[in-house]
Amino acid sequence: MTISLPFTYIEQMRTLLGQDAERFLRSYDETRTQGLRINPLKTDFHSKLTAELCKMYELEPVPWCGTGFYYGEHHRPGKHPYHAAGLYYIQEPSAMSAVEMLDPQPGEVVLDLAAAPGGKSSHIAGKMQGQGLLVANEIHPARAKILAENIERMGVSNAIVTNATPDELAARFPSFFDRIMLDAPCSGEGMFRKDPDAISEWSEDHVVMCAARQWDILEQAVKMLKPGGTLAYSTCTFNRQENELMIERLLAAFPAFTLVGTERIWPHEHRGEGHFVAVLRAAAGDSLAREPQAAGDAHSAHGRRKAERAPRGKGQPAAPAAAGMAQFLAWAREELPGFAPGQGDALLFGEALYELPQAGGSSLSAAQLSGLRIPRAGLHLGTIRKNRVEPAHALALAVKPEWARLHYDYAPDAPEIAAYLRGETLPVPPDHKGWALVTVNGLPLGWGKASGGQLKNHYPKGLRLP
Ligand code: SAM
Repeated sequence: MTISLPFTYIEQMRTLLGQDAERFLRSYDETRTQGLRINPLKTDFHSKLTAELCKMYELEPVPWCGTGFYYGEHHRPGKHPYHAAGLYYIQEPSAMSAVEMLDPQPGEVVLDLAAAPGGKSSHIAGKMQGQGLLVANEIHPARAKILAENIERMGVSNAIVTNATPDELAARFPSFFDRIMLDAPCSGEGMFRKDPDAISEWSEDHVVMCAARQWDILEQAVKMLKPGGTLAYSTCTFNRQENELMIERLLAAFPAFTLVGTERIWPHEHRGEGHFVAVLRAAAGDSLAREPQAAGDAHSAHGRRKAERAPRGKGQPAAPAAAGMAQFLAWAREELPGFAPGQGDALLFGEALYELPQAGGSSLSAAQLSGLRIPRAGLHLGTIRKNRVEPAHALALAVKPEWARLHYDYAPDAPEIAAYLRGETLPVPPDHKGWALVTVNGLPLGWGKASGGQLKNHYPKGLRLP
């Protein structure tokens, strides 16, 4: 075996897998699997673009995900302009199983509780087709920022990104979500081929710590699920403590749940690094936003929770946000005439204007979000200054080129695309003036502003290529 594994881990896997263990251990000698998911918000399975990608990257379908594909080791899809345009998300193939099993629907209210960098959230958003509300949450601030960037890149218009602890969210959103995805932080045994650092972090104590943390997060997830709602729990680890035993404990503590199904993806049986998913459905009727039965509670490793933080302020006054929206819509009539505002409230954070997503009777209010750290409060429309509007990068990625008064389209290998992604100006006809979308084969990449024969580059500085 080329990878050196901890002895206790090997023993654990021998106990778990019996005679299959040697085959499992030999899978460490094989190269890891790599995959991408086509973004249905940008194209569909039968499109010319999908056919082009299949050829470019020698894609082969992932059996458990209709939008998922394997690509060969030597390809680098993360470097292509189509990646910057959000045409696909690079994701380990077995991780694609979780959202397929959660099965979110357009119009629902969905939470992804441990969401960064955004693989599952972008998968959920693709299935929701811009309808309903997705709350994508990440506890670590730096990772929440990456999550927000990925949500934007994928052109998701109906998601808010929060940077909160599970407890903070549970206090705001009791019995609120139709579906919850909990892709829990875990001991990462399925990461060993991909990330050798995961091997050095592994120990039996670490597994125990992960299981205690998973239970604490699960308890909060349960409180946020509507009666009749669906919870998917997943990990990229193999041991039973973090997987089946966690689900058994949940079923014992919350008898309102029934197990819909579980799935294990094994690297010696499937083309994937490994994943565990369990889907549970809550009974219709009683709210789950209460303490679990004593058996579950007695196991809680972290004891009593800290007091909830009081909300900061009462939310933004509506008047400036409405005025900001009016100013934005006046801009859009000129520069983005195809844009139609949704039903959600406008929100102003300083000069940044957002449109909050709405979902049936469960729209979010500014007050409900007040005091939470929110890297992205829905679709970022633009910056509203005294006499001008600057459209947001997120807006460029969420609209169609034909909505814009001006757009410039180039082939992926055109020098203009490379120049644009480096932040350079582009030549445009001298009589063109105003905001324009730059697109690659019909997919928006970002904004530019035309004047005097040049397109000033508005591709965000932090995303520019060297
Ligand atoms: N779902 C993500 C995706 O598909 O891209 C991957 C999530 S990763 C397996 C687990 C996440 O849980 C990490 O981003 C980590 O920062 C977060 N996390 C760590 N400790 C946490 C806690 N106590 N509560 C909630 N999330 C936590």
